[in-house]
This record gives sequence, structure tokens and C-alpha cells, in this order.
Amino acid sequence: PVDRLPEIQEARLRLPILAEEQVIMEAVRENECVVLCGETGSGKTTQVPQFLYEAGYASSVGIIGVTEPRRVAAISMSQRVAKEMNLSTGVVSYQIRFEGNVTKDTKIKFMTDGVLLKEIQRDFLLQKYSVIIIDEAHERSVYTDILIGLLSRIAPLRNRRGLPMKLIIMSATLRVEDFTENQRLFRTPPPVIKVETRQFPVTVHFNKRTPMEDYTGETFHKICKIHRMLPAGGILVFLTGQAEVHSVCRRLRKAFPYRPNREHTGETQISKTSRRATKKNVCLPKISLDNYSALPVDEGDEDCQAGIDEDDGEGSDLELELGDHPDNDAEEKSDPSIPLYVLPLYSLLAPEQQAKVFRPPPAGARLCVVATNVAETSLTIPGIKYVVDCGRVKKRFYDRVTGVSSFKVTWISQASANQRAGRAGRTEAGHCYRLYSSAVFGDFSLFSEAEITRRPVDDLVLQMKDLNIEKVVNFPFPTPPSGETLISAEQLLISLGALEEPPRRGRLNEMERARLSCPITPLGRAMAAFPVSPRYAKMLALGRQQGCMPYIITIVSAMTVREIFEEYDRPAGSEEESSRLAGKKARSFQMRRLWAGQGQSLLLGDLMVLLGAVGACEFAGCSQQFCEGNGLRYKAILEIRRLRGQLTNTVNSVCADAGVFVDQKMAPPTDGQVVYLRQIVLAGLGDHLARRVQNEDLLDPKWRNGYKTPLLDEPVFIHPSSALHKTLPEFVVYQEIVETTKMYMRGVCGVQ
Ligand code: ADP
Ligand code: MG
Repeated sequence: PVDRLPEIQEARLRLPILAEEQVIMEAVRENECVVLCGETGSGKTTQVPQFLYEAGYASSVGIIGVTEPRRVAAISMSQRVAKEMNLSTGVVSYQIRFEGNVTKDTKIKFMTDGVLLKEIQRDFLLQKYSVIIIDEAHERSVYTDILIGLLSRIAPLRNRRGLPMKLIIMSATLRVEDFTENQRLFRTPPPVIKVETRQFPVTVHFNKRTPMEDYTGETFHKICKIHRMLPAGGILVFLTGQAEVHSVCRRLRKAFPYRPNREHTGETQISKTSRRATKKNVCLPKISLDNYSALPVDEGDEDCQAGIDEDDGEGSDLELELGDHPDNDAEEKSDPSIPLYVLPLYSLLAPEQQAKVFRPPPAGARLCVVATNVAETSLTIPGIKYVVDCGRVKKRFYDRVTGVSSFKVTWISQASANQRAGRAGRTEAGHCYRLYSSAVFGDFSLFSEAEITRRPVDDLVLQMKDLNIEKVVNFPFPTPPSGETLISAEQLLISLGALEEPPRRGRLNEMERARLSCPITPLGRAMAAFPVSPRYAKMLALGRQQGCMPYIITIVSAMTVREIFEEYDRPAGSEEESSRLAGKKARSFQMRRLWAGQGQSLLLGDLMVLLGAVGACEFAGCSQQFCEGNGLRYKAILEIRRLRGQLTNTVNSVCADAGVFVDQKMAPPTDGQVVYLRQIVLAGLGDHLARRVQNEDLLDPKWRNGYKTPLLDEPVFIHPSSALHKTLPEFVVYQEIVETTKMYMRGVCGVQ
């Protein structure tokens, strides 16, 4: 029996999912696994755990577990459900990687998918749960995919042991065939329940031009125009990252200051804006969300250049109305008469700050939430009428050569764009302003690909082996990575010593050998603890020799962060500027020569330069000034610093007596240590070995100063900016090969 407050009960009853409670609970009773689809905001995350609780699934035998791909959702949804149920957070709790509020009384536990994966490592049958809900399955995060594969096996095992467990997969889209039609995953396809949602029409406005550079500036100006010209209603803005979110928030607060203690006369403010908008009899075209595929074309007036009037709103008068306003580059004048209540929203924001977006804005001010992708499906913000979509998302990419992950801003998929637009039509008809043309939208991919197909899987295979899943090729992935990808991952892990060498018997070809399930080694278990890809984890695992650990941590951190040196080769505007750039470039090269060290250190090559640069920078207090004066990218240096701290902590936790710490005054390595460092680097990058073509073997002049690698027929070269460009050691290892005018190795280190 749940004792809810009357206003909560009232709000719940308006959610479309309440009408489906019986259907859902019956399906759950009769099936091991159920798939539930419903638009964002229909009530899946907040209500389904409550249905289960009231049906008695959280009992003495087990609790209800809910996984989220994002920490922000795990925290805020647990708080919301606790509040709706009038229960304490000791009963409805959350657990994320480093924190949580779970107690022995917890009945509903929200957690990130990574946390549940780690729990499976400790108890494969997950005996403390009577039901597991996999939320946001449409996001197709690697961990979610792996969890679904594991749970498809765990649930039947539990049922056979008379300890039944239910699995519920929830998705905001109808695209669930990868789960339901996959025979290896579920022999009998699980039933799919669709929750019908009331969706008001959302008018989509495309830009004529697509800003390639300053899309945050464009975003800012679009928000200003909406706020000045359009009737009351919240604005939700999609940008790609925390820095962008803050910069736009700052500019908006300056343009439309909101002062909490001043009495804003709400009525007049709102009616002032709406009057302006209605005066010219704005009629807004309706495009139902279902018609997204029938794209409107960009056929507005070519001469309209600025702002919202670039949108092809099918001849709406709105364009004329908004056309009188300043150009994009004009600064917005501060206007306190129409206050805007601006709130940032992103994953790392403190929960109490995040919670603000769910409360109604102060009287007289318009709500404007500037968010990253978290607002796309994880969180539903009430009262949104306008969506501004920059069309981009920051995603993790894996460099196929180095295996190192990085974050890049790319275009979203059409499915994501439609999810974003849908946020505007929850409470009444709304508008979505897309800062890209319909032609660009047409070039977006239809759906975002499952993360697992976009990256090498050596780290994943290592994690799975750490879970004692030996035959990774037989694992029921919702979308399997290619066999080649799996084999090369396994081969790499064997060569790094993380997996046991398969026995060489007779005429087994490589494919069959890889299918032989190679178990994990103790070294592999240690490597699995580090948050870097296995090559680098191997270097860390070997770092204890001769006090090399602090150096290896620094080198790995620096190799994992891209572009630590500033580029000065950009076109200069004036002669003066070009000589200034030339001066900086000369200084940067001079510093790199200095950091490359002397004697033995020289052979460490580019890695010694990284080590010297980070060491010198830390010694100087890591100031922006030092970076700018010496050709280092300040942001990269800060990132390296964070990673050094994190890796240092991990080393200490994996190995209690390591006793390493981040030393700001780290002395350069001794000659003896340099020898060890080269061996450690070789152990991690052993398959990235290149041998210089000897002059006497030169058959073709194109091979002059070239290196031969096992996999390429063409010569590769040491880049002129490398510390080893003149030395040309006979054997080198490299971090990656980049093709520009030639194939150049980067991150080169001599070995011998
Ligand atoms: P779904 O998971 O289907 O996307 P949710 O269960 O997250 O939907 O949200 C259902 C409704 O609950 C939404 O309409 C949203 O406005 C409301 N809601 C969710 N979280 C909060 C909160 N913290 N405060 C107020 N309302 C909320
Ligand atoms: Mg949800």
C-alpha cells in the first residue's frame, strides 16, 4: 500500500502509462522478459518501478533494480520515485560508480548499467533482485547491450532454480527488433507493449544556412529571438557539452537578467511578449510528428538572411515578425524587462542544481533550460513549448589505430532530431527550431548506430573475460561486433599477456584458434581494472619496475590526450601576425628539443618530449601563461592532469603497496629508468613496430628514410616535428599512423 500525496496522484493519473498498468503487469506475470516502448515523458521510468512495487515484486525474496545509461538519470529518477511514493531515499535509492544512498531497506534501486555489470561479476545470478529493468535501451550503450545479453541467460537460469527473475526492457523508440527478433538472444520473442502517448503537433523550422563554425552563437541569437517575439512557454536548448552550455547561459543571463528579489510583474511581462507576437496575427503551420519523413523543402525567400526568418516555416507570418531584428553578430542589449530564468542541465551538474529544471519558473520569468543530450530522452522537463536544436552531439570515438578514446562533436541521427523535437509537444502544441537546413537533415543517418559496432572491442573482450565469459564469439550480443573485430581483439589480448595462449594443436587455422576460449590471466585481471585501453593498461601493469610508475602514468596520460602541442601553421592575417606566429613556432620547437633530454633519454623520442613537457608545466604550476609561452595547449594539459590523478588512484587501489602519488616536482628519469621505460612502452606497443629500410636495401628512392611495418606495403616516415626525425633509429614503435602528404608515424619511440 503506497500513500501518495493527492497532487502527486493527480499528476500520475494524467500519464498515459497509467492506463496500461494492468496490461503491463499481466505481461510481466506471464513472461520472463517484456519489452516496453513509449515516448519520452510517457511515464516509463517513474511509474513501472511503482507498478512492480505495488504488485509485490519488492519482497523479502528480492528487490527491484533499474539500470540507466546515465548517472544523472539514476540519481534524479530515484529521487523522483521516492517522492512520488512518499518513501525515504533509504527505500528508493541509487548507486553510481563512486557514490550512492542504498541501505539494507532499499526496495527500488536505480543504478548505472556499469554498476550492475560489476555486480554480475560478484554474483552471476543477481540473487538479490526479483526484477531488473533495463531503461533507455534505445540508446544502445555498450554496457546496456552487454547486460541484455547476460540477462537473457541469467533469467532462465534463475527460473530453473525456482528463484524466478523478471526482465523488463524499456525503450523510447519502437525500434526494438535487435532485441525481439534476435533468436540467439531470446528464442521466443518477448512480447512488446506500446504505450500510446498524447503528442501535440510540433512545427519544425529548418535553417536555410547551416552554421558550421559558431553554432553556439547562432543558438544564442535564436533563443533571444524566441524570447523577444514568441508567446509564453519554456525553451529547451540542445548543445553538445558543458562548456557550451555555460557560455550560452552566461550570455543569456546578461541579455535578459532575472533578479529573484525584484518583483517581476508577471502578467504584464508575459502579455507584453504575447501581444507582440499575436499583433501581426501569427499563424503557425502544423506538421505532425508522424510526418517527419515528408520533409519540408528549403524554399523560402532566398534574400531573407537573418535569424528565424531563414527557416522554411512554409510562408508563416512569423518570419516577417521576427525579421526586423538585429543581425547575428550584433550584441544583445541587456533587457531586464523581460527576464529569462536560465538553467543549465548536463550530466556532471550537482543533483540539486539538476532538480531545479523540474520546478515551475518564478512568476513573470520564462524558463530556458540549456542542456546537453541528457534532455533528449533521459529527463522530461515540464512546460517546454520551444526546442532549439543545434543538431550536434558529443560522442566518444575510438581511434582504430591507437584504440584510444576521444570525444568529438558530430551530427545527430534523424531519430535523435525527432526525439529532440518531440520534447516541445508534451503539454501543448510547440515549435522546434533546427539550426541546420533540411538538406543537412536529409543527410543525417536514420538511427544512431549501436555503440558496439563503432569501435574496437579489445577493452570489452577483456572485461568479459574478467567476468569469466570465455567464449566471447558465442555471446548473445543484441548487435554483434564483426567476427574480425572480435578475433583481432582476442589476438591483441593474447599478445599483451592478458589472455592465455591457446594450445597449438595440429592444423587449426586462426579463426578456430580464436574460437578456442582463451581464459584470462592474472595480468589480464589487473589490466581490467584500469580505465584505459589494454595496450596502455599493460604499460601501467609493468610500471612498478625501478620506480618507473609515476613516469608511465604521465606518459600514458599524455598519450591518451590528443594534440598537446599548439599548431602555429594557420594562415596569418597580417605580416606582423605571421612573424609573431613564426616566433612562437620557433620557440615551441626549441622547447621540444629541450624536453627531449640528453643521452639515453633521446631514444625515448616523442614520449620523452611528452614527459618533459608535462613535467616542466607542472613544475611551473601548470599555468595558462606557461602553456601559451611554450607552445602547449592549456586544455590538453588540464586533461592530462585529471587523468594522472585518476590513474594514480587506480594504481594504488589495484596494488595496495604501490604508494604512488602525483608529484608536481617530478625529477627527470635516470638513464637506468629510461631503459626500463623503453621496454615497458615496447611491451604495450609491440605490434606497432617499424624497422628502418637500410640504405643498401634501397631499391626504390621512395623508401629513402622510410620505415617498414608488418601490415603496410608502403613506407611510413618519422614526421619532421618528431624528436627522432634526425636520429632515425633502426627500430621504433609508434602510437599511430596518420596519412597526410605521406604516411607519418606519430608518438615515436626508439627501441633496441
Ligand atoms: P519516461 O521514462 O517515459 O520518459 P518519466 O517517467 O521520466 O517518463 O516521466 C513521466 C513524467 O513525470 C514526465 O511528464 C515528467 O514531467 C514527470 N517528471 C519526471 N521527473 C520529474 C521530477 N523530478 N519532477 C517533476 N516531474 C517529473
Ligand atoms: Mg525514462
